[in-house]
Amino acid sequence: MPAKTIQPLKDRFGRTINYVRLSVTDRCDFRCVYCMAEDMTFLPRQQVLTLEEIARLARTFQSLGTEKIRLTGGEPLVRKDILDLVGEIGRLGLRDFAMTTNGNQLSRLAEPLREAGLQRLNISLDTLDAGRFLQITRTGQLDRVLDGIDAARDAGFRGIKLNAVIMKGRNDDEILDLVAFARRKQVDISFIEEMPLGQITDHDRGESLCSSDEVRARISRYHDLFPTTDDSGGPARYFRMPDSPVRIGFISPHSHNFCATCNRVRVTVEGRLLLCLGNEHSVDLRRVLRGYPEGDGKLRETIIKAMDLKPERHHFSSDGDVQILRFMNMTGG
Ligand code: SAM
Repeated sequence: MPAKTIQPLKDRFGRTINYVRLSVTDRCDFRCVYCMAEDMTFLPRQQVLTLEEIARLARTFQSLGTEKIRLTGGEPLVRKDILDLVGEIGRLGLRDFAMTTNGNQLSRLAEPLREAGLQRLNISLDTLDAGRFLQITRTGQLDRVLDGIDAARDAGFRGIKLNAVIMKGRNDDEILDLVAFARRKQVDISFIEEMPLGQITDHDRGESLCSSDEVRARISRYHDLFPTTDDSGGPARYFRMPDSPVRIGFISPHSHNFCATCNRVRVTVEGRLLLCLGNEHSVDLRRVLRGYPEGDGKLRETIIKAMDLKPERHHFSSDGDVQILRFMNMTGG
């Protein structure tokens, strides 16, 4: 019998949706000031998808044309038995299988993650100063994360990228140091504009927003930056330097919204399918997962129908007002 051709998911605006970010936990061992409030309440266990349910979602999305899956959170590496899930999804043979992590546990887990089939890692790193690192993460130790980055390099991932959220008056004086670090370690780095997700008390987002254009201008004083047509399949726009293989990316939800080429949806660890990072449109997949445990027909049908809800774009304003009540740890960054 000829192989069945897969009809990829499409939304109302003709965009193909082939990239899914699955959040595996809302919990985290850090409390980054832009991501969470200091005092967070986490979800009770029965509201959280089991690893089997998450794996079933991954298989179902793959059967609907998904080529890329990213595991995120919260911090994915604090989820018990995460390696089992990584192994399960690794065996699907996706074109791209990645994870976003804070790096805190990578010294121990980088190699087993690679062996379980994970291909690429994004590691968050906002500062190279240990005191600041503790202030920004509220609980983290910089050395552990730096060791984790080295462990990831040794483990032979296909790609490693650093992610830095730049905040004025907080870490914007470290942009060039972070670029130098990335060049030294031979890993890509993306600079992210802070997004208004969840009510935080630590700082005024309107005042701390540092636009990608500003970050790029500062780097350009020391390094020529050439735009590339590289498509990471994600939201970053990439630039290259003439004297290094390292790429510099900019994720600019405020200043260069990336909605026209959006190919992504997210599933929260409660099983809520989020059609857009900056809108509340969502569909409850947990109800379907648990209501129809036998076949995947209803789940597939629900996902296909949900594509009609995907909004054309998000509208973040840069005045710091909260527009989306869920925190990034709930959204799945
Ligand atoms: N715990 C993992 C980590 O630290 O990378 C994965 C989850 S975290 C929510 C994913 C990414 O979202 C991180 O790079 C983090 O810096 C970024 N992030 C969190 N809150 C953000 C916000 N309000 N605006 C922009 N980026 C944010």
